[in-house]
Amino acid sequence: MVNKVTDPRGADSSGIYRRPRLVLRLKRVEDLPSLLEKSKSYPTPIRMVGADYSQTRCVGGDGGTTVETGGLDRILEFGEDTVRAQAGVRVSALVKALAERGQELPLTPEMGQISLGAMAVSTLPQASYEAGMAQMSSCISEVKLITPQGKQMNVSERERDLMRVLRSSFGLLGIVHEVVLRVRPLTPVKIDYEVMTLREFTSRYPGLIEAPGALRLHVSPFHDRITLEHRTLDDSAAITRSGIWQIKQSVMRNVLPAFGSTVGSVLAAPGLRNAVLSGMHRALSGGHRGVAMYSYEWMRDMPKEAWKARHTYSMWAFPQADYPKLLGAYFAFCKSYYKQHRYRGNVVSGASRLHQDRGSLFSASYSGPMFTLEPSSSGEQGWDDFLIDFNDFASSHGGVPTFNQTRALQPEHVAKAFGERVKLFSALRQRTDPLNRLRNSYFAYLLG
Ligand SMILES: Cc1cc2nc3c(=O)[nH]c(=O)nc-3n(C[C@H](O)[C@H](O)[C@H](O)COP(=O)(O)OP(=O)(O)OC[C@H]3O[C@@H](n4cnc5c(N)ncnc54)[C@H](O)[C@@H]3O)c2cc1C
Repeated sequence: MVNKVTDPRGADSSGIYRRPRLVLRLKRVEDLPSLLEKSKSYPTPIRMVGADYSQTRCVGGDGGTTVETGGLDRILEFGEDTVRAQAGVRVSALVKALAERGQELPLTPEMGQISLGAMAVSTLPQASYEAGMAQMSSCISEVKLITPQGKQMNVSERERDLMRVLRSSFGLLGIVHEVVLRVRPLTPVKIDYEVMTLREFTSRYPGLIEAPGALRLHVSPFHDRITLEHRTLDDSAAITRSGIWQIKQSVMRNVLPAFGSTVGSVLAAPGLRNAVLSGMHRALSGGHRGVAMYSYEWMRDMPKEAWKARHTYSMWAFPQADYPKLLGAYFAFCKSYYKQHRYRGNVVSGASRLHQDRGSLFSASYSGPMFTLEPSSSGEQGWDDFLIDFNDFASSHGGVPTFNQTRALQPEHVAKAFGERVKLFSALRQRTDPLNRLRNSYFAYLLG
């Protein structure tokens, strides 16, 4: 292990403060048991950090030991239906290596840095194609971890309940050092875009959610515009792919602003902000456009220091059945908030449809099909206050938050959304980690 940082005090520029006493870079899995056992040398809490792109204090530091997993970066074994890799491997590295073998993950995020360790234990919902596969953690079929007592443990999908709890455990039940992920043959994705008003969206909604494929939305409350991105897996799309390659370039530049580094850098220049907001709709104002690509092609790496992206967002999920109504309420909320506080977000809000997925205890779509809503911003003044009120709005409309992507979360939001599941998880956590070796103040506050 390498002791990396001696004075890691203070908040970073994203406002997410950390304050560990020690920051270590893990090189060998064999070092983990003694790290957990020696609480004098390695102060509590022990918290793992992957790429460090979470939007909340879920990593946390609290005067303890923060352990970086970046050194565990080996892909160990490619199989026909699975791949085995260490926890520090970044999803972009894995996805590229799989693509070279004609394979892909069942879900591919747009951001490349996510570490496989974080993917296994945190909530990363993605626009989904089918029930049971709406969060990245559902791609994980096996984990190897070290328990708070320093014991090695292997868990596979055969132990369904245990796996479900681990996939939502945020490093509170153990340290993941190796994972197995499901893979499938690489398949082109046909992407269609349409721009519509909320009224049009509402009237077409029953048909939209019935159709197969994944749905991603880009929502502008002040322009009454919803850009619908419809992704369908389409083997035949490969044939026409080269002809539309140039459109793809423009789509990537103009149309996928929610999580792109391109957008992050544009946002750094204040004068261009409105251009970003309306540019996507201008680019699409001609109506329908189609494009085909492989999912690995939409993956982007953010700037190295997370905060340099200057792109922040928060995420809640809402029941699919009432989603158009919820969007109507959100539009009204944004307008009335602006009237009262003169603040409005300067980036379109993203949204993804999630099929029901019970693969993890705190899955955003555990109780049924959902749509996320992700207000986004470049982090300008007023954003943090907006989120406090937005959280109350979201919670009162039946929203489900995440622990790593929902900012300014409060215990009452958590209790309302997860009910008995919180009690179950907390009881299990107390039993497996009675000395609170792995627990930080963020989770103590939210989960007890
Ligand atoms: C600008 C931006 C764009 C984004 N775009 C996307 C996107 O397109 N799609 C998407 O799904 N997400 C996206 N995210 C969200 C982000 O990827 C995740 O919240 C998070 O980054 C998960 O990966 P990480 O490696 O950074 O996790 P970290 O923040 O490092 O850790 C997340 C949690 O997992 C725990 N943990 C990490 N490693 C281990 C381990 N080995 N064992 C046990 N516990 C562990 C940590 O303690 C922490 O609680 C984006 C975030 C930002 C800032």
